[in-house]
Amino acid sequence: MKTAVKGLLLTVKHLFAAGRKRENLDIREDGYFDKQDGTVTIQFPKQTIPIPEVARYQLDVEISDCIVCDLCAKACPVDCIAIEAIKSPEAIGKTSDGSVKRLYAETFDIDMAKCMYCGLCTVVCPTECITMTDQYDRTTTKLTDLIYGFAEMSDQEVAQRKEEWTRFQAEKEAAKAKK
Ligand code: SF4
Ligand code: SF4
Repeated sequence: MKTAVKGLLLTVKHLFAAGRKRENLDIREDGYFDKQDGTVTIQFPKQTIPIPEVARYQLDVEISDCIVCDLCAKACPVDCIAIEAIKSPEAIGKTSDGSVKRLYAETFDIDMAKCMYCGLCTVVCPTECITMTDQYDRTTTKLTDLIYGFAEMSDQEVAQRKEEWTRFQAEKEAAKAKK
């Protein structure tokens, strides 16, 4: 009887709580979890809960600052970063932190459907160009929509850069043969 009454009281408590609207509180507030009164969820997407600064959500890449070193792809435990690089005969510019760029990014895809948000890729990046944003709502019905492409080269540019590298190698070989 005692257990049955206890269970019933709990149900009644939730029944009344269900009629109360949950407040949209900032998760950074002290005692956030103690203030969760009411069982009605917030009206997402009209209402959203502010997220902490250290939250780990969708990845973003500032491709102009990427040196295409492939470290992020190597660090990824689930292999969801695919990078294809094209070598350049000479330096092609500098990133905002002064790192020299010598590779073009032909492909830079991140499959967010596979990503487990561990953040390892952001930790190893030498130029800090791969970051976790506060974006978490990218709902889609097509799984392939979650493959984010960050490379900006056109097919024509890719072909041109590859040709430049092949020509450079051929000239180097020819110069070697002459000696
Ligand atoms: S957050 Fe983790 S799982 Fe996601 S891409 Fe980066 S290393 Fe891979
Ligand atoms: S670790 Fe950083 S610089 Fe290197 S390929 Fe990844 S995003 Fe680019």
